[in-house]
Amino acid sequence: MDGIVNNYENNIDYNMNNEVNIEDDMNYKSDPTSTRCQECGRKNNEYYCQPCNSVHFRNNFAYWTSGDSNLDKLIQNSQINADGSWKLIEWIEYSNLENIELIAHGGFGSVYKAIWKDGPIENWNFNKSEWRRENKTEVAVKKFRNVTHVSSDFLNEVNATVP
Ligand SMILES: [Zn+2]
Repeated sequence: MDGIVNNYENNIDYNMNNEVNIEDDMNYKSDPTSTRCQECGRKNNEYYCQPCNSVHFRNNFAYWTSGDSNLDKLIQNSQINADGSWKLIEWIEYSNLENIELIAHGGFGSVYKAIWKDGPIENWNFNKSEWRRENKTEVAVKKFRNVTHVSSDFLNEVNATVP
């Protein structure tokens, strides 16, 4: 939980918006017939090896938490099952956002834009043994008013953003 602001509900919202951003990032295209995973030799789905990457994600489960076990489980499942980078959800620490600017207040709360410093995962960098990322990416951030816990409605909403 390092670097997370005290206001628990804000973290959930940051996370959710990054998910939305990932979902919107559907333009990533490559030739799936031309590549093989450097780790296991299987043909890739658009440079993304689901069996290998699910292991990389699992190995990192102990090193992050949203603070809510149901939300963690949802994020973990998306990471294990994703067969493309646009299908996975990540938990983003507040410290990984910068240039946060208010866009509008609404009935539910407020909308901001921000830069996600690391940006979303593209695929696994075999030589460096780390995720290859898009780097600085603009994301929308929603901050909900009067949220005190992760509701099942919220979990359903997040789940619905997973393709
Ligand atoms: Zn592989």
